[in-house]
Amino acid sequence: MRWSALALLALTSLAPPTESASVPVVQRGRDTDVAPAAADPGAPAAAVVTPLAGPAFDDDAALPAHADDIADYTLRATLDPEAHTVHGEGTITWRNTSTQPARELWLHLYLNAFKNERSAFFRERVGGRGSAPPEDWGWIDVRKLVLRAGDAAPVDVWPTAELHRPGDDDETDARVPLPREIAPGEAVQLDVTFDDKLPIVVERTGYRGHYHLVGQWFPKVARLEPDGTWAHFPFHHLAEFYADYGTYDVTLDVPQAYTLGATGPLVEWHVADGRRIERHLQGDVHDFAWTAWDAWQTARENIDGVEVTLLYPRGFTRMAQRELATLRFALPYYSAHYGRYPYEVLTVVHPQQDAAESGGMEYPTFITSGSSWMTPPGLLAPEIVTIHEMGHQWFYGLVGTNELAWPFLDEGLNQFAEQDGMGKWRGEGSGLDLAGLTVSDAAVDAVGGNLGVHDEPVAQPANAFTTGANYGGLVYARTASVMETLRRVYGDEPVMRALGRYARRFRFEHPGPDQLIAVFEEVLGARVAATLRTALFEKGWVDYVVDGVWANPATRAAGMFDRDGQRQKVEHDDRAAREWDNAVLVRRRGTLSFPVDVDLILADGTTRHEHWDGEGESRRFSWHGTSAVRAAVVDPLDHVMVDLNLENNRGAAEGRGGSAGSTLERATYWMQLALEAVSP
Ligand SMILES: [Zn+2]
Repeated sequence: MRWSALALLALTSLAPPTESASVPVVQRGRDTDVAPAAADPGAPAAAVVTPLAGPAFDDDAALPAHADDIADYTLRATLDPEAHTVHGEGTITWRNTSTQPARELWLHLYLNAFKNERSAFFRERVGGRGSAPPEDWGWIDVRKLVLRAGDAAPVDVWPTAELHRPGDDDETDARVPLPREIAPGEAVQLDVTFDDKLPIVVERTGYRGHYHLVGQWFPKVARLEPDGTWAHFPFHHLAEFYADYGTYDVTLDVPQAYTLGATGPLVEWHVADGRRIERHLQGDVHDFAWTAWDAWQTARENIDGVEVTLLYPRGFTRMAQRELATLRFALPYYSAHYGRYPYEVLTVVHPQQDAAESGGMEYPTFITSGSSWMTPPGLLAPEIVTIHEMGHQWFYGLVGTNELAWPFLDEGLNQFAEQDGMGKWRGEGSGLDLAGLTVSDAAVDAVGGNLGVHDEPVAQPANAFTTGANYGGLVYARTASVMETLRRVYGDEPVMRALGRYARRFRFEHPGPDQLIAVFEEVLGARVAATLRTALFEKGWVDYVVDGVWANPATRAAGMFDRDGQRQKVEHDDRAAREWDNAVLVRRRGTLSFPVDVDLILADGTTRHEHWDGEGESRRFSWHGTSAVRAAVVDPLDHVMVDLNLENNRGAAEGRGGSAGSTLERATYWMQLALEAVSP
């Protein structure tokens, strides 16, 4: 999901541009009495790669072709577009892949989140998307759930199911006791019949007029972890989902005049009795969504071997073209970095304007984009939303992390992939490029990611976040900004290789934070792994500061000196006109450390470029030279995107003043407001 409130968080200010990049450049260390920088253990880390026992997963050679099928769904769904109901029936085949016998099943009935205001979803409202109750409620009623296991007679297990816990009205997480155990390795069938009433569009699903976006619509078996514990949970307000991989074979039945879009390729279709029947079949995925509308416009294009279908409302042709252009860059780029896109199709749905809340969402091979029909070219909302949701095909789809437990693993890594992709495609103006003003996607996240950093950790379950603002700021922006800092400090190649290795190695699997950090340690070393852990789990923060800049005229020491048995008076000499004792004090406050550059700017117009490993709490640069130091800048190229306060990164010698202007920051504030006004 694209957290559209996020950029609003970032509006109090934006990262200043890197004007310091233009300071005069001279050779390093012209004056000779500065201690040379120590060997830096955190410097670009090609040398610390640990040899691996197995495949490195730095290319696609070892990519698995298929997921382990655990939960397969063969369903038929019949839409009544006037009543906004879906009648569903079919079979779920489920296999116990844990080491323990299963005595119960847990079924997610997500549509019940929109049944009433006593659902967990509406009780937990803390700001952000989906905060307003729908004007028309939605729900799912399971009619029967017939268990077929081995030679035993089929039995409907739904009458004994617990739809909710005692004292809790939420009906999104149902417990189904079983008449007998399902042994490890055993597969069972569940014949299921259910009826959906779709809500008016709310939080990624629902209808608006004849427009239908049907997500989270069928009874979904929770994931049984290898140790035999069920990862089941209500539909929390801030959380997304988690499920096993399997094959979805879904037949959709809608009025003939409707155009369908769905997860997976269309493998059969026909028209009968005024109805359009389409069968979509997709393996190696963990969800299925679809759309039906009688006003869809369609654009198709083969991009990098993938059949892309764009569904968009009338009047949105230009947006559809921009979204296709985004995919022309992004599909091959993501395939190259995070492993080949393994599916034949990708469908992009651009919702109609009054259904924008169903935009900006990801499902396997099926994403929803969004933006106003008149979004000007410099406002990159359609591009950003499209690249973000497409990125989820990797960070959510192909790497199936538990989105409730560790939302940063899907949304945060995907947000970084978004700003990396947008940056490499569109450069400095990757967030905004209008009227000569450019703001990068990464800069917006840098500001948003610093706002809640002292409040709560990034790496915690979605429903533990105290506000929607902190969820957006920390899960999305902070994670991305930490990754972007690593990329700028340690280099693009090793950081992109680390993320690519993680994405490939855990394709079709369910890794946690330890797996991510282990891969970063493998590629970038122990210091980076420790930094990452502190940043994610311990509210890690950092503020680099220039705390003192001193230029003292160098003269002979004056005073009374006892020498050769005599007391002599010594006066200053005239070196003051020519020589200086210079000193600069730089501090690192906080719990994160990164190596940084330090520029020492001299009165003669030259700059000494120094480097600090950033390991201690402070570093003093002292030297004797023929030019007075005027100012100093720590991290002059803004590598440390998570630096909490950029205004103290520069300091002038006493009495010399000087600070960065804020005109541009104010301008970007208003431009960002304009961007948000037309974004989904
Ligand atoms: Zn997202």
